[in-house]
Amino acid sequence: MIYLNGKFMPIEEACIPVLDRGFIFGDGIYEVIPAYSRKPFRLPKHLNRLQHSLDGIRLKNPFSNDEWKNLLEQVIAKSDAEDQYLYLHITRGVAKRDHAFPVNVPPTVFIMSNPLLPPPAELLASGASAITAIDNRWIRCDVKAISLLPNVLLRQLAVDVHALETILIRDGFLTEGAASNIFVVKNGVLLAPPKSNLMLPGITYDVVLELAAANKIPHEIREITEAEVRTADEILLTSSTKEIMPIASLDNQPVGQGKPGPLFARLHALYQDYKATNMRG
Ligand code: PLP
Repeated sequence: MIYLNGKFMPIEEACIPVLDRGFIFGDGIYEVIPAYSRKPFRLPKHLNRLQHSLDGIRLKNPFSNDEWKNLLEQVIAKSDAEDQYLYLHITRGVAKRDHAFPVNVPPTVFIMSNPLLPPPAELLASGASAITAIDNRWIRCDVKAISLLPNVLLRQLAVDVHALETILIRDGFLTEGAASNIFVVKNGVLLAPPKSNLMLPGITYDVVLELAAANKIPHEIREITEAEVRTADEILLTSSTKEIMPIASLDNQPVGQGKPGPLFARLHALYQDYKATNMRG
């Protein structure tokens, strides 16, 4: 069952008018929240980011955080899987086609849940491959906008060569992946690009940095050059649905030893422990 504008229904019955501004202009934002053992993971952080995205497009939040929590709990309860990922989508509603914001139009609110599967064990063991591309997106990548055409095109470049992700470089510096955040390891130090308008502030990115700090893993938040990405000992990818994954080849060249490295193994184990704590509440 999905939630659409106040009602729960099977997804096959959910319809959006063609004049929805999400359809016409990509005028909306979204959020993806994992739920382990039916408990949303880091919900307050996700709801804060949702608010940031709404503020970024000047759209009023249709619900309070308590109302969101209640709605999400209902969606989770109506789904079969123990581990799920929730997709929340809010657009500026349905109105005659005109770029200007419509007045007094209710937003479209859509929530669905899908089963959340852990990343394939083979990929965690062997490491995934990635390619690089120029980051040609807009300069509000901190807003989780539904207008994802550049991300779609960039990700497809990876799919075309059977790679997992496209790692983005803007003006000679690492930003993030087409749908993930990227960390680099050099000489035992975990390097993370600083949050800015050029990347999505990942919830998993924050967890990884908190785990590094709590476990005295040397880490630095600073600009990372393309050359540092290309000569990294390890490259790590993070997202809510992929958790933390090792990148073992970049543009067909081995990353470090060409297999998952020690910092990946450590952070992956810490992440699994941290998830388990969340499940216990
Ligand atoms: N960057 C982009 C462009 C993304 O689409 C995503 C998530 O899908 C991320 C980073 C990772 O964010 P999170 O860890 O909150 O899932």
